[in-house]
Amino acid sequence: MIESPLLQNRQGFVAGAWTSARDGKTFAVHNPATGEQIADVPAMCQEETTAAVEAADASLRHEVPVAQRRGWLEEIERLLLENKPELARVITLEQGKPLKESIVEVDYAAQFFHFFAQHLDQLQAQQLSEHPRGMNWEVHHRPAGVVALITPWNFPLAMLAKKLAPALGAGCAAVVKPAENTPLTCVALWHLLDRLGLPAGRASLVTGEPVAMGEVLCSHPAVRLISFTGSTEVGRVLIAKTAPHVKRLAMELGGNAPFIVMDDADITTAADALMANKFRCSGQTCVCANRVYVQRGIAAAFVEAMASRVSKLKVGNGMDPQTDIGPLINRDGFDKVDRHVADALKRGAKRVVGTDRARPAQEWGAFYSPTVLTGTTSDMLVSREETFGPVVAIGEYESESEAIELANGTPYGLSAYLFTRDDARARRMAAQLRFGHVGLNTATGPTPEAPFGGMKQSGFGREGGVEGLLEFCEPQTVVTP
Ligand code: ADP
Repeated sequence: MIESPLLQNRQGFVAGAWTSARDGKTFAVHNPATGEQIADVPAMCQEETTAAVEAADASLRHEVPVAQRRGWLEEIERLLLENKPELARVITLEQGKPLKESIVEVDYAAQFFHFFAQHLDQLQAQQLSEHPRGMNWEVHHRPAGVVALITPWNFPLAMLAKKLAPALGAGCAAVVKPAENTPLTCVALWHLLDRLGLPAGRASLVTGEPVAMGEVLCSHPAVRLISFTGSTEVGRVLIAKTAPHVKRLAMELGGNAPFIVMDDADITTAADALMANKFRCSGQTCVCANRVYVQRGIAAAFVEAMASRVSKLKVGNGMDPQTDIGPLINRDGFDKVDRHVADALKRGAKRVVGTDRARPAQEWGAFYSPTVLTGTTSDMLVSREETFGPVVAIGEYESESEAIELANGTPYGLSAYLFTRDDARARRMAAQLRFGHVGLNTATGPTPEAPFGGMKQSGFGREGGVEGLLEFCEPQTVVTP
């Protein structure tokens, strides 16, 4: 069992108090590297979720001034940074990623609280300069109300920070449901939030059975907005379940990012960028390159550059400072990656780095050998679906128009990356890429200052930037004679 000063209560947090499931049931959290059971947390259900929603609704009866909300965000940023090593340890123990990446995740999460604290002045009412019908027109940004924040297991702190910072900043009350694999980071965060003296119900944490809890969040009339990050599959379920209740939604769903290398690109820059982008969190991120397209003239040189880098990666327990690649979240994750690689090999791809790893006997300890495939084509699973593992799938193309066609040939549209030394070409191609985030000669991901989100089946709504704050507001027009 994990010992931590941030995990003295291993409970949810509802209506301002640490709370267990009504029937006392719990579920186990495991360390994905070792399989060790590290904690039990409450297996909450509909009743507790309803209580959290109603407490959130009640907390909104008293308006909290913007200055006080700004103070909360600044204090949360300070507490995250002050507790960085311990939070990072909790992330690695339940998620598996290398400790150095968990530290970066805590910093990144803190930056969202910093950014939104600095931009709450965007909520000020605006007086229109025009006076239609001879009247005064003002636009206010009212809080959306009770918001449900549903998060995945790959970035248990950062994916919540993107939602919680603007939600609290905008004056909403949040009910947070973390992923079953990684609830402890949230429990640790609530030990910090508990020091803030938030009004009871402003930020509740419920852990447990996703479908039952989802029923309440999708149907309770007090919930006005659901902000979700996760698979397109579950996103679709939430869209369907909320439709009869007409709720606002912000959906950050799956990606299938193309990474295009033109023959005039700097190979070292492109290969280094791909390494940093692809292998973060063992390749289990929605922004990581899933389909690498290299122009035929430099394909051999690029494959060589990738092969020499990938073969040096060290796989192991994330608590070991030498580790570059931790375990996959569980055996289901391993099976998916393995199925993709087997399918590619069967259809004619070549494996230039990587070995067959035996399927792990247990659900945990699913370490996948970092792999480079060449000769991948559009019909293969590695190209059609998000692999979510440490596999670089490289295919070749001839022309710029072919690269665009291949890149856009997916129902997804989250991120894309393009490497070329020709600036005019880069700009021209970026405009044609149907992705919400485009890196030109960089494969860096989102940042708190800029809006981030998907096109097509990667979802809608934006996180980060002023757009990410306004997502949690309802514009209201007030007109006076
Ligand atoms: P991933 O593929 O990254 O595991 P999922 O889409 O399965 O992502 O899950 C993302 C989040 O959605 C998790 O917190 C999970 O518990 C939650 N979830 C899954 N199914 C439902 C549902 N029916 N209602 C509400 N939340 C759900």
